[in-house]
Amino acid sequence: MEYAKNILETIGKTPLVKLNKLTTELPCLVLAKYETFNPGNSVKDRMALQMVEDAEELGILKPGGTIIEGTSGNTGMGLALAAVVKGYKMICVISDKQSKEKVDILKAVGSEVHVCPTDVAPEDPRSYYSTAKRLATEIPNSWYVNQYDNPSNCKAHFLSTGPEIWEQTEGKITHFVVGVGTGGTISGVGSYLKMKNPNVKVWGIDTYGSVFKKYHETGIFDENEIYPYVTEGIGEDILPKNVRFEVIDGFTKVTDKDAAIYTQKLAKEEGMFLGNSAGAAIKGLLQLKEEFGENDVVVVLFHDHGSRYVGKMFNDDWMHKMGYIE
Ligand code: PMP
Repeated sequence: MEYAKNILETIGKTPLVKLNKLTTELPCLVLAKYETFNPGNSVKDRMALQMVEDAEELGILKPGGTIIEGTSGNTGMGLALAAVVKGYKMICVISDKQSKEKVDILKAVGSEVHVCPTDVAPEDPRSYYSTAKRLATEIPNSWYVNQYDNPSNCKAHFLSTGPEIWEQTEGKITHFVVGVGTGGTISGVGSYLKMKNPNVKVWGIDTYGSVFKKYHETGIFDENEIYPYVTEGIGEDILPKNVRFEVIDGFTKVTDKDAAIYTQKLAKEEGMFLGNSAGAAIKGLLQLKEEFGENDVVVVLFHDHGSRYVGKMFNDDWMHKMGYIE
């Protein structure tokens, strides 16, 4: 008989799928690393499990302990699955701009969820960063994960996502394009691919309202770049330790409107029902058209599933209200 010993064993080994319609204006082959096939429907299952197992090994997560994380949803889902299987309690601290579906899903897999305001500075005691840190000091036998600075985040992608992409493309990959939030995905995959072939180009997708692109280009952390935005999962108002700027060749920014419209297009034109950062990633890839040549093999990573966005990017009333569609 062939079976996984538990749901965590099904994490990874996701398919690579060719894009056919949205990419017709490009000269190259474009392949999507399709991460929604993970059991929590996102790439974040990989790093969640790695962070938990590394914390167990280090002795900072002990039997009967409580896992605490500030998460926009997907990391919380991955951590919650690990917590259920391994017998920990899970607390997610989330900002109020995240979709209601994400909160409901976290509760469905047994997490306690605290919702915090988005429009406050990270150091404000009401922010989700501060709230997660405070809970970790108040709750005995708890462990604050901190995916932004936790090295196991990047490591997971160096050990699994990167090698999978290299093997699936038989080493023919020339460009890797991916949205950047904590930076774990781009840094882990990017480091691995550049270790195998230093000529592979690594492009990050950023959003208006985030600091990454300007910082990469100038070395300046410009607070004027920071303002509220709608796109979910990518962009930051901090510089997480997991963003390794040296493995990134460049960033392109995608507007909230374009990210939302391309999230719909992926579903309607490719049959790929995916999250908002996938829309940003494919639009950003199209913006990079001049970078790609005829024989190139471009891999774009799609982080999460469309079901979490049915009240937003897949809801035409919402799209209309936001002024994204007529
Ligand atoms: N897209 C989505 C939907 C995400 O949840 C995240 C994680 N914040 C990202 C993209 C960015 O991935 P990373 O944190 O590895 O940079």
